[in-house]
This record gives sequence, structure tokens and C-alpha cells, in this order.
Amino acid sequence: MTDISSSQGDTHVEDFDVEAVNRAGKRPPLYAARKKIFPKRASGNFRRLKWLIMIVTLGIYYITPWLRFDRGEYAPDQAVLVDLANRRFYFFFIEIWPQEFYYVAGLLVMAGVGLFLITSTVGRAWCGYTCPQTVWVDLFLVVERFFEGDRNQRMKLDSAPWSFNKIWRRVAKHGTWLLIGVATGGAWIFYFADAPTLFMDVIHFDAPMVAYFTILILTATTYTFGGLMREQVCTYMCPWPRIQGAMLDEHSLTVTYNDWRGEPRTKHSKKAIKEGIPIGDCVDCNACVAVCPMGIDIRDGQQLECITCALCIDACDNVMDKLGREQGLISYTTLNDYNENMQLATSGSATIDPTKVRDDKGNLLDRVRRTNWRSIVRWRTLVYFCFWAAIGVAMLVALSLRDRLDVNVQHDRNPLYVMLSDGAVRNGYDVKVLNMTPEPRTIRLSLENLPGGEMILASSVDEPQKSIVLDVEPDRVLPLRVYVRAMPQQLDGNPVRFDFVVTDVFGEESSRETVKFEMPQE
Ligand code: SF4
Ligand code: SF4
Repeated sequence: MTDISSSQGDTHVEDFDVEAVNRAGKRPPLYAARKKIFPKRASGNFRRLKWLIMIVTLGIYYITPWLRFDRGEYAPDQAVLVDLANRRFYFFFIEIWPQEFYYVAGLLVMAGVGLFLITSTVGRAWCGYTCPQTVWVDLFLVVERFFEGDRNQRMKLDSAPWSFNKIWRRVAKHGTWLLIGVATGGAWIFYFADAPTLFMDVIHFDAPMVAYFTILILTATTYTFGGLMREQVCTYMCPWPRIQGAMLDEHSLTVTYNDWRGEPRTKHSKKAIKEGIPIGDCVDCNACVAVCPMGIDIRDGQQLECITCALCIDACDNVMDKLGREQGLISYTTLNDYNENMQLATSGSATIDPTKVRDDKGNLLDRVRRTNWRSIVRWRTLVYFCFWAAIGVAMLVALSLRDRLDVNVQHDRNPLYVMLSDGAVRNGYDVKVLNMTPEPRTIRLSLENLPGGEMILASSVDEPQKSIVLDVEPDRVLPLRVYVRAMPQQLDGNPVRFDFVVTDVFGEESSRETVKFEMPQE
């Protein structure tokens, strides 16, 4: 309390010992400049796995448009093609028409459920191994290392004054990044047209403007995201790190620093042992920090920035090997196992005592929890997997049973019917016959369930008939204008529902659509 004098006499006013955290003029800026990260090259099992995944995913992306698949003389021979002009999607032996877009929706649902499955099982494996951002940043780092060397050389070059050596290395690096960007944009457009033809058109400047525009945009985004922004895309732009928090549980595998065996860390283990101070396995060498592409220290605990690329596991395992200690100081671990092991290391004391997790010979106790298959196979992941597999099986069954011949019919809205001079009633329809095979077909169009009903094409001068035989081009829609006539007496004077039926004259397949035949009401 402080005594403050006022015109009313002495008053007691409480005096707070506080400093304005956001005092004007002292607020930290909202924008902080990026601190450069120079990840060191890692080596080990996870790095090898990442190389393999990188080669496979980039290979699939760049090579797929050049794969050929024979669909006969009437359909394109590009194995994977999004044919926007004809509104078709080709994937090897599968051809999707616009009205079958639910298959693409099914694939998207499968991708979503697959992400739930992967994240709940092995955390952000998508981020660490297969996300395009991760894969292209990895590729750009390969280029950077090639021209500028590994971490220490890059740091030295970065802080060195501009010289011929620095300029040519920087120009070569950025030039190669731009070439990769052009190749990435170029590969993308080849998914939308015949790749060899479009390639020749592009290099002869005969391609549509939209192709050059797409290449330009994708070159710019690949170069900027993969070369310049790198980890900032994951940290600030991508929503996935936030979403994944809701998907992880205490059984999900995440990259974890096992401080229950690593602490207390020290760089001077010999001295500490001599003095009888218990020490953990971490020798504070910072190898795990040096390889991290996100510039974080996993020993600070789980962080939003960690993409679980596991390179710090490789780095630390190499250090443990050199020291003759068990690998796994940093490892894929579940929160449950980590908590159990931590309890073991701290039982009876407030701090970690690494001797409590080891036997007299210095080996980790059998009671120490290790990652096993139960972390992956559990109820939650099984439910996700069954859901994911059920969608896949349902789509495969639907694909194998789907019709490749179809008919769509639309009744005239106005007039609903026309009375003819002979007393018959005539209705008009727009009929579309869909031949969804890459072969020409002869189709019979007929009427069913319309007593005495006959039809005639609007363009025909023939007499009305019960059925009409038509040739339909391969992979095409045949639009028809059809008039159907019937005598009201044969229909009891009421509107009736009947079927337009299309049948393959030389095959088994048929399809039908039920429509209304309108009559004058008494
Ligand atoms: S902390 Fe480890 S797993 Fe996480 S991003 Fe860095 S290197 Fe990858
Ligand atoms: S690499 Fe392993 S030993 Fe070295 S600082 Fe990281 S956790 Fe400690």
C-alpha cells in the first residue's frame, strides 16, 4: 500500500509492482526476418528410406505423362490423361466420364481417411517423407550441397564477401533450381494433353498460352517454396501441422528425444564419471540439431515445426554407435511408452536418474518400454484401415460392374404433348445415347411398357417404328431428337411411365431410362 495525498486528505491506494509487457515503443515487431538454416547431410536408415521415397515419388511425377497404354485406335494412348477438351479422365484401363466423378470423390475420401490412418499410426509421416514440399526441398538441398558443399562450407560461403567463387556457385544453384521448377511445371501440363505432341508444341512456341502460363506459375512456386521459403511453408502456410494435433493420441509414434536415458546431458562425460556424477547418454554434440531441416532441437520436446523426417534419429544413432551405446536415444516412440520410461527414471526422485533404467552392466533394463507392432495395430488404426479398405473395395466393385452403355432422356417442357390429326398423342424427347467404350457400336433404341407406342427421329422421313438401329461413334455421346406417339384409347387416357431402352446389337449390354408419356386430361 502507498499513501497518496489528495484534496480529501491521505488515501490508501494499492501500488502494483508490474511492467507493461507490450509497452508502446518496446513491442517486438510482428514480422521477424528468417534465420537461415544450413542442414547437414545425414546418413542412416531413415535417410536411405527418404532417398528411396524421393526417387519413387519424383519418378512417378515426371515419368507418368510419358507412359503409353493401348486403348485401340479410337482413344488416346496416354496412360494417365486428364482430357479437359473431351471431359474424360484416363488412368490406364480405367476411363472416367464426367457423370462418374464420384469415383474421383471416392479417391479423395480414401486419401483423407488414409491421412487419418497414417497420422494416428506414425504421426506426420506424410510431412516427413512424401509431402511434395518435403520432397522438393530435399531435391533442392541436393543441388545446394552439390554447388556449395555441406553445412560448414555453406555457412562459410554465406558469410563470405561477394567474389567470383561465390557468384558462380550461387548462379549455378539458382539456375538449377529454376530448371527444376520449369521441369516441374512442364511435367504438370503434360497430364492434360498428349505429352509428346504438347512437348513439341511448347518448344516450337505453338502451345496455347495457358500452357506457358501454367509452366510460369509452377516454376515460380516450386522455386520459391522449395528453394527460398523451405521450412517456412510448413511452419506458417500449411494447415496440416495444426490439424494433425487433433489426430495424434498417446499411442501414435512420433520422433521423440528419450530424455529419461539422455539426461543429464554433458559434453564432459569422463570428468563427470570421475566425480561420480550420474550422466545420461546425450553428449550434447548437437548432431541432431545440425541435420534438422526445420532448424529445431528435438531435445526441447514435441514441436509444431517437427515434420518427423527422422534425420535426427539417424544423426544420433551414428553418435551412439561411435560411443558404443544402444541406438534409440532419439527414436519413434509413443507418448505412453515415453511416460512409462520417464516414470522408471524418476521413481523416488524429482529429477531424472539415468542409472534407474540400466542394470549393473550398464544395459537398458528389460522393463524399459520399446516400440513394438502393438503401437501400429490397435483398434483405432484398424477402424481407419477397414473404413479405408471398404471404400477402396466398393469402388473396385462399382468400377467392374459399371455400365459402358447408357441413355439419358429429357421430356419436352413445353408443349407437354401434341394432338395429331389421326387422334394420336405425340410427346417430344431429347435422348442422349452414351457409348463409353473406345469402339464403334451399333445400338438398338426401343420403347418398352408403352402399349401401341412408336417413335421417329425428328430428322427422319420414315414411318414411326417400335425401335431404331443406330451407329454410335467410339467414346462419344449421340444426341437425338425423338418423337413418340401413341393412341389414347390404348393407354386408358392417362399419362403413363414407359422405358427408353438401348441395347448393343452385337453384345449383351443394355441400359434404360423411365420417362413419362403425357396425355390430355379429361
Ligand atoms: S526434429 Fe528431427 S524429426 Fe523433427 S524435423 Fe528436425 S530432424 Fe526431422
Ligand atoms: S545427437 Fe544425440 S547425443 Fe548428440 S546432442 Fe543430439 S541427442 Fe544428444
